Amino acid sequence: MSVLGYFDGKFIDVENDKIIGMEDRGHQFGDGIYEATRFYNGKCFQLKRHLDRCMSSLKKVRMTVPYTADDLAKLHEELIEKSGFKNGVVYFQFTRGTAPRDHHFPNVKPHLSMSIRSSEVNEQQQAEGVKCFLTEDIRWHHCDIKSLNLLGNVLAKQAADDAGCYEAVLYRPDTKEVTECGSSNFFMIKDGVLWSHPTNNLILKGITLSVLLEDIAPAIGVKVMEKEFTPEFALTADEAFITSTSLEVTPCIELGGKVIGNGKIGEITLKLQKAYKEAVKKECF
Ligand code: PMP
Repeated sequence: MSVLGYFDGKFIDVENDKIIGMEDRGHQFGDGIYEATRFYNGKCFQLKRHLDRCMSSLKKVRMTVPYTADDLAKLHEELIEKSGFKNGVVYFQFTRGTAPRDHHFPNVKPHLSMSIRSSEVNEQQQAEGVKCFLTEDIRWHHCDIKSLNLLGNVLAKQAADDAGCYEAVLYRPDTKEVTECGSSNFFMIKDGVLWSHPTNNLILKGITLSVLLEDIAPAIGVKVMEKEFTPEFALTADEAFITSTSLEVTPCIELGGKVIGNGKIGEITLKLQKAYKEAVKKECF
């Protein structure tokens, strides 16, 4: 099966065109940033927020690229049209280019690579929820950058998988604060209030999180507390859920071996999940 993609100005077949060299900085150093967007009915949801975050990640890693946000939006449109897919995910990344291995920035052009895959939202998982593993956040302190360096995330997600869990919920061992998950954001509900880690350098400001906290929660009257909380407090949650572009709002029904609430999707989680789907419908259909 071939996978449609794009690399530095050309549409390519991701599986058969071997385009990345040994000395690509992404390969050698994890020196790059990425984004993943979801499209519904042939239209990207919240593309502007994704592209703004991409530009912000590029700036934070001091990478200048010969693409504007508009160029990237056009490439999304072209990829979706060429693929013929209705629903799916576009992955794209910039690396600092290819140069003989040396830590300093090389004087070469960055690479842009993109790929598109067809996929549907997992409705069953969203209805039934997932079990989450609780583990230490061993990552660096710039988690607001969507960097290619995902080793801390990979190790946490593998530990979760080894324990029969879907996702790893992370906490900083020094400050005892729950940050986020291996590849999603974490939320808990206690006494009707929605708790979320402040959007600082310790978490990625998820686009799904932004839609929930900035658009949906105020619109449907859910009270939000953006404040650090401990793993112990998380274990007392009435409800909990995780969010990402591909997961949307997915209930967390078990955390660190403890059942959350009655082990089923909570009332407020369901409200937020429904409102998120409404927002998708409004924007993409
Ligand atoms: N945190 C991490 C570490 C992630 O990898 C992701 C997924 N990209 C998220 C949060 C959720 O971000 P978004 O809602 O933009 O997909």
